[in-house]
Amino acid sequence: MDAIVVGGGIVGAAAAHHLCSQGASTMLVASSHTGAATPAGTGVIHPWPFPWDTPADWAFKLAAAAHLPRLMAELEQDGHPPGYQITGALSVEAEGADSGFELMDSLSGREGFETMGRVERLEPGAPHELFPLLAERDRGVYIEGGARLDGALARHALVEAARERGLHLRTGQAHLVWEGERVTGVRVGQEQVRAPVTVVAAGAWSASLLAPTGFQLPVLPVRGQMAHFALPGQRTGSWPGVRFGEHDFHAVAFSPDRISTSGTRRPEAGFTYRATAGELSQLLTTALATMPGLQEATLAQARVGFRPATHDGHQLLGPIEAVPGVVVATGLDSLGLTLGPFQGRVAAQLALGRETGLDLHPLRPDRPAQAP
Ligand SMILES: Cc1cc2nc3c(=O)[nH]c(=O)nc-3n(C[C@H](O)[C@H](O)[C@H](O)COP(=O)(O)OP(=O)(O)OC[C@H]3O[C@@H](n4cnc5c(N)ncnc54)[C@H](O)[C@@H]3O)c2cc1C
Repeated sequence: MDAIVVGGGIVGAAAAHHLCSQGASTMLVASSHTGAATPAGTGVIHPWPFPWDTPADWAFKLAAAAHLPRLMAELEQDGHPPGYQITGALSVEAEGADSGFELMDSLSGREGFETMGRVERLEPGAPHELFPLLAERDRGVYIEGGARLDGALARHALVEAARERGLHLRTGQAHLVWEGERVTGVRVGQEQVRAPVTVVAAGAWSASLLAPTGFQLPVLPVRGQMAHFALPGQRTGSWPGVRFGEHDFHAVAFSPDRISTSGTRRPEAGFTYRATAGELSQLLTTALATMPGLQEATLAQARVGFRPATHDGHQLLGPIEAVPGVVVATGLDSLGLTLGPFQGRVAAQLALGRETGLDLHPLRPDRPAQAP
């Protein structure tokens, strides 16, 4: 192989897809850990940076914002629908609160924000017309370029498109082969596969994958639980995503009649995979307070996943000086569906020794922790 990718979440799938698109002989090793983040994600896509982002994050997010629609259109054209749709997004605030209009409006005019599209202030009544579960008094801001993504579908589309380009797919648990000086490939069951570079995209499990090399990757699981509702008789497919500023809570609509909420955050739960009554109660209370029209919805599912978070809140992307033979791509925490497809592509470019056009030094996995 020219390259091996470990981890078949959205990041690993995107890395494998890019490697195969570039003609590299690639193996993707994908196990299916309970609690993988990609199929559990809500699907809110707001890729643009905020003024408080670091310069490295700013540049990365703008590049990701330009890349995502292009990649999604390519998958669609190739006959692999990735579950991506630009639906617009609402930011809704209680009366009297800052709706964030000035901030979003000023950003939308800046260079690199073209995909954000039109930003419009909405008077009471207008958000309810666009997203009928909201209270009639709600007001807010509309962002034309807001989108949604079905993580499981997108991951599947990337893998299938890569298979058409020659991807070797193995299902199973990979172990790095560490020959004392460098990683020379992986072992999966009885099979050993060699490659000059292995992309570590194993999400919250990336630290245990690297443990045999002696390197402690600062990635940790943050358990999240989200609720999935069905609204029989309603067609929600074209509804925009909604952010409720006051509660820092999101809702995303999917076809034909589905609503997903944002997830809870339980870093103290470690890898304990459970849907708890307390978190469900918290989700339902906030969901009903923000979307009164949800009263008669069917509670279809509670999903649990482990976000890959880091010691300082910034992603981990690049090689590790002490562990030659690997490129790490993880640590996107709550933004992995949004930024993961681009992170995977950048990891693939690094694996191929290509120029990325980005300053990745602040994101290297062996950096000292940055101030949050
Ligand atoms: C409740 C919830 C809501 C979220 N909502 C959003 C959202 O609205 N928008 C957004 O942008 N992001 C969201 N996220 C975050 C997003 O889902 C994650 O950041 C992203 O999916 C991480 O992708 P990943 O590929 O890094 O990891 P994962 O999806 O966890 O994939 C890692 C994969 O590696 C595999 N693996 C691990 N070890 C090995 C091994 N040794 N060998 C082989 N395979 C291995 C695992 O089985 C797993 O399939 C949410 C997350 C959660 C939990």
